[in-house]
Amino acid sequence: MTPASIAIIGAGLAGLSCAQQLTGAGIKTCLFDKARGPGGRLSSRRRSELTFDLGAQYLTASSTAFEQQLLEWQQQGCILPWPVTSQQPAWVATPRMSALSRHLSQSLILHTQTRIQRLLAQPENLWVLVDEANNHWGPFTHLVIATPATQAKALVVDFPELTATLSDAEEEPKWVAYFALTEQLTPEHPVYQPHEGPLQRATLLNAKPGQATNLQRWVVEATPEWSQEQVNASPEGVAELLYKEWLKELNLKAPEKPLILEAHRWLYAQTQKPLEKDFLVADNQQVFVCGDYCRGQSLEAAWQSGTQLGKVLRKTIQ
Ligand SMILES: Cc1cc2nc3c(=O)[nH]c(=O)nc-3n(C[C@H](O)[C@H](O)[C@H](O)COP(=O)(O)OP(=O)(O)OC[C@H]3O[C@@H](n4cnc5c(N)ncnc54)[C@H](O)[C@@H]3O)c2cc1C
Repeated sequence: MTPASIAIIGAGLAGLSCAQQLTGAGIKTCLFDKARGPGGRLSSRRRSELTFDLGAQYLTASSTAFEQQLLEWQQQGCILPWPVTSQQPAWVATPRMSALSRHLSQSLILHTQTRIQRLLAQPENLWVLVDEANNHWGPFTHLVIATPATQAKALVVDFPELTATLSDAEEEPKWVAYFALTEQLTPEHPVYQPHEGPLQRATLLNAKPGQATNLQRWVVEATPEWSQEQVNASPEGVAELLYKEWLKELNLKAPEKPLILEAHRWLYAQTQKPLEKDFLVADNQQVFVCGDYCRGQSLEAAWQSGTQLGKVLRKTIQ
């Protein structure tokens, strides 16, 4: 019998958590990601000397299991508590959010800049992955798809039992503007969440532990509704609009023109309808799907989905 070898498409927190479970049990595991590094929506962008957390701003735990995991990551020195929300404790990765995905991917086999386009069935129940340059990877005994639901759906076209469910969880877009100021403004709170209008959240990155810089850095997220309306707008135009909204909402003495002002569009930002399952499995019991949308819209949901799938695969294979 061919020894188990698992390919994971997508190195966001779900894929990385799944890989951690599998490699921890000595199972051969290979990750593929289309981006330049791991992390997915847990990512940071560098501009000159500055970095901006463009996706998740902080981690929170609603389950004891994830709280335990956060305390473990804190002990390993890659996250720190950030007492920013009054409702529940929060943590941030230091010196930027992507430090957590770097930490988790350290001992894993990860092929970056590799966009997988097709899953090819082989004789003897094996699978090969085909990337956009037509390179063939494998063979593998099991495949895990850990991308957003919309992208997973495109990969599992031959599995109607999966596509039907994935359609329910397709994600909405979200625009994010990020900017740097020479002024050190002092807002009442480092995380501002208005109840109406185009802004969903404005975060002062300098207020995060380990993120102080001379220039003041902000990330402003638009609501999914506003982002959908502006989905095809230019990043420059969106950045200007969101900056103006931020000026209006926070009512701070900020300049008309910041030093850096850019915008990023997350096309598959967050599902509005989580599947209420840990993960999905194809009828052949060889192709699996995990991701935040299985359980929710957060890093905790991504971790939970990937970890649960990893644990189940471990048991099935060993
Ligand atoms: C703007 C924004 C703010 C957020 N804020 C928070 C927050 O403060 N706290 C919180 O808990 N959560 C937050 N979230 C949600 C959180 O970021 C996500 O729930 C979580 O990161 C999802 O992880 P994932 O592994 O499921 O998916 P992803 O992180 O999206 O990972 C999927 C990976 O698959 C890769 N991929 C896709 N298709 C292919 C392909 N064909 N071949 C190879 N690779 C592929 C992608 O490059 C990506 O790296 C936020 C999300 C956004 C967009």
